Amino acid sequence: MSTQEHLNKAGFDTRAIHAGYEPDEKTGAVIPPIYATSTYKQDGVGGMRGGYEYSRSGNPTRTALEGVLAAVEQGERGFAFASGLAAEDTLLRALTRPGDHAVIPDDAYGGTYRLFDKVAKVWGLDHTPAAVSDVDAMRAAIVPGRTKIVWVETPTNPMLTIGDIEALAGVAHNAGALLVVDNTFASPYLQQPLTLGADVVVHSTTKYVGGHSDVVGGALVVRDLELADQIAFHQNSMGAVAGPFDAFLTHRGLKTLGVRMDRHCDNAEKVVEFLSTHAKVAEVIYPGLPDHAGHAIAAKQMKRFGGIVSFRVTGGEQHAVDVCGKAEVFTLGESLGGVESLIEHPGRMTHASVAGTDLEVPGDLVRLSVGIETVDDLLADLDRALA
Ligand SMILES: *Cc1c(COP(=O)(O)O)cnc(C)c1O
Repeated sequence: MSTQEHLNKAGFDTRAIHAGYEPDEKTGAVIPPIYATSTYKQDGVGGMRGGYEYSRSGNPTRTALEGVLAAVEQGERGFAFASGLAAEDTLLRALTRPGDHAVIPDDAYGGTYRLFDKVAKVWGLDHTPAAVSDVDAMRAAIVPGRTKIVWVETPTNPMLTIGDIEALAGVAHNAGALLVVDNTFASPYLQQPLTLGADVVVHSTTKYVGGHSDVVGGALVVRDLELADQIAFHQNSMGAVAGPFDAFLTHRGLKTLGVRMDRHCDNAEKVVEFLSTHAKVAEVIYPGLPDHAGHAIAAKQMKRFGGIVSFRVTGGEQHAVDVCGKAEVFTLGESLGGVESLIEHPGRMTHASVAGTDLEVPGDLVRLSVGIETVDDLLADLDRALA
């Protein structure tokens, strides 16, 4: 058995650190070099070394990342893209044809919703939004014979709604559709959808997988090899691949995902505890809280409950906006999943485009991406910002 085969049975962190790459035979380089090359010398016409001919089709730095992505999600093959949305777009074109239909979360990530509603729809892929927490509603949204994909995020953004991956896989498969899970919020450390019956895992690796807010990227991971071939064909045909510099950074981040996620979760739990008893906080939303509607399912399918915490303040929308503006250790900004704590007002920032629709989020809502700083500094900052 090769080292890589042994890794199939290894623990999460061992896979994150060692899968996808053996130290370079020529130099012993422990870390995959950044192969900044577009093309490869052939030993005679068609005599490719290791299958590499052109870097859109394959690049060793990207190959290493794709190997580890598959390993941490317990999949067979991983694919790295220039962004999460590039991964999603490639997947939609690989899996659907004009006339097909998709069921999507009624609180889907804004960019995903825009891709379905403003881009895919024009090409003939129709969609119906439904609540991922409501298995019956997701089933009812299926159009028999036309629905090819059921798309799920869990936890969702920013209300942290939970969908039952195992139950939704059953719903999709009964209808002859595939279950796609956007696993960005949980990260592969906390949740591995392919082991629960999902067919495709999607990531914005920009978030927890990269983990340092220094690179934009996306990924797809699958178990089925036929599906993998379809995705590989579209990845090469459409060309929205991760470049070698981006692949290097994302791979470097992924090695420490486990230790980072445990600290994100430790800190988030302490932030939740602090906010729950704070006089100026009306409600704390976190799947780890026993009174969260999705708590039991989250406890069943997630290792821990993640680093994102949302809360509503007592003083209405202006109070929420003020809290975001006053925080100092928490940086005011969009995105999530980096080592640094971020704070945002979803109503006026990430979710401004859904104001006035069914997807509108409460004006008094604040979303935190709890980072891995010293937790006392985070609590003191929130206390100051809420005052
Ligand atoms: C950020 C994000 C995306 C989009 O990824 P990009 O890397 O920004 O293209 C998709 N889904 C979720 C849940 C996200 O948070």
